[in-house]
Amino acid sequence: MNAVLFTDLDGTLLSLSDYSYDVALPALAALKERGVPVVFCTAKTLSENEYYRAVLGIKDPFIVENGGAIFIPQDYFSFEFTHGKEQGHYYVIEFGARYDELRAALNAIRAETGFKITGFGDMTVAEVAKDANLSIEQAMRAKAKVYNESFRFDEPKDKEPILFEKVHEKGFSITHGGRYYNIHGRNADKGRAVKTLTKLFKREYGAVMTIGVGDSKNDIPMLKAVDQPAVVRRLDGTWLDIQLENLYKAEGVGPEGWVEVVEKFIL
Ligand SMILES: [Mg+2]
Repeated sequence: MNAVLFTDLDGTLLSLSDYSYDVALPALAALKERGVPVVFCTAKTLSENEYYRAVLGIKDPFIVENGGAIFIPQDYFSFEFTHGKEQGHYYVIEFGARYDELRAALNAIRAETGFKITGFGDMTVAEVAKDANLSIEQAMRAKAKVYNESFRFDEPKDKEPILFEKVHEKGFSITHGGRYYNIHGRNADKGRAVKTLTKLFKREYGAVMTIGVGDSKNDIPMLKAVDQPAVVRRLDGTWLDIQLENLYKAEGVGPEGWVEVVEKFIL
């Protein structure tokens, strides 16, 4: 049976402290050799995904901005399928809300509550670079958001429920990634995108075994949508707090745990 790997990037395939991935390169090469699709499923933008696809030599479809859209190379599947638009050499299936609507909702919440909320859209490229520990080039790619806004919430933890309530009141969803909170469209979550893409893989290959690897709350919908969910250890030594029947908890932190999952379930 064909395996399909859905993977988060930050804190999972990429180290959360410095975005490194060297430790995962041999396992990635083995996956490529076996023709196992490696599908990024991340809060990152199209531009950031394209960067990591290029440096890691990955040609498979990918899910951007927490399920905001799926990008599928036009020559990837052998059949025609329903898609929203074509962009560059991709077919795009969109689920997310518009960035300007998300920004407007955040501004309204800030005005209503006085909360200290700082979105990527409020920061210059240099500020994003400093805050997220990115290079200027990486920060430019990270700011190119279309379906999702990432933001800092500099308030005590007990204010969090009010923030969540306000976001829902405005008609949007909120998730917490490793580093930032994310506001996005109600229909956009990693799980819906994973399910849509899994159907396409099944049409292409017949039966498939899906594996999902993540580290944070925004990965929960993805983990629930795959046959074999797995979490890697976080920098503080803990795992995502989630109860799933066959959840595998890797011993390794970030990319080291990722390698462990790939070796155990695929290689
Ligand atoms: Mg993550």
